[in-house]
Amino acid sequence: MTNHKKLIIILLGPPGAGKGTQAKLIEDRYNIPHISTGDILRDAILKNSALGKKANFYMQKGDLVPDNIIFDLIENRVDQPECKNGVLFDGFPRNVRQAKMLQNMDYIKDCENFFAILINIPDEEVIKRLSNRRYCPKCKSIYNLIHKIPKRKVNGVYLCDYCGTELIIRDDDKVETVKNRLKVYYDSAEPMIDFFRNLSVLHIIEDTVLQEDVFHEITKIIEEELIYEPSDRHKLSFASSERQKWS
Ligand SMILES: [Zn+2]
Repeated sequence: MTNHKKLIIILLGPPGAGKGTQAKLIEDRYNIPHISTGDILRDAILKNSALGKKANFYMQKGDLVPDNIIFDLIENRVDQPECKNGVLFDGFPRNVRQAKMLQNMDYIKDCENFFAILINIPDEEVIKRLSNRRYCPKCKSIYNLIHKIPKRKVNGVYLCDYCGTELIIRDDDKVETVKNRLKVYYDSAEPMIDFFRNLSVLHIIEDTVLQEDVFHEITKIIEEELIYEPSDRHKLSFASSERQKWS
């Protein structure tokens, strides 16, 4: 693939930063597929492909899937025609080693529209957001005691609006687990963030930006710098045309 004008976005940020929400909005606005390592792994395992079998071997033991397998899966994925205009990565790369692999990938080489966007939120906010999450073990609905409050509460326990099941706090969202997830995140993310900073592709959404303004900030970052071919113009749906740069 020789399209150097494709749009590559990497979303970075701690758990609870709302990367999934932003990914959906970005995908819709720029018409690029959202590639998450979790989805790719599930898909490969479901299809029982050679790589899926290898990945499953580690996952069943509760181990992290080795970087080289993740990398091969990502390479296969970006080779598909729907990725020709670019992709949005979420959950990949997860460390410097993967970031270096990504940098050397043929798909990325010479790409001029490469953005690593870090959504920064303070630890207290991560803990507040995640520890206020409630989960329905039956229908899998997710609630939040701050902005998506379940309607019913019986004997101090919230019930699912849809199926009436008692809501639970997932182990992942318990305060102690969240603190540990944050530590794991910082250990691998900080060197990776420096790596992208040194490549001059890092953009930071500061933690002072309100949650509802994050997407607006992301579009500003992208559209101020985006370079693309005139013939590709119709493929991308921008609100502002005056900011476009031509190479
Ligand atoms: Zn339910």
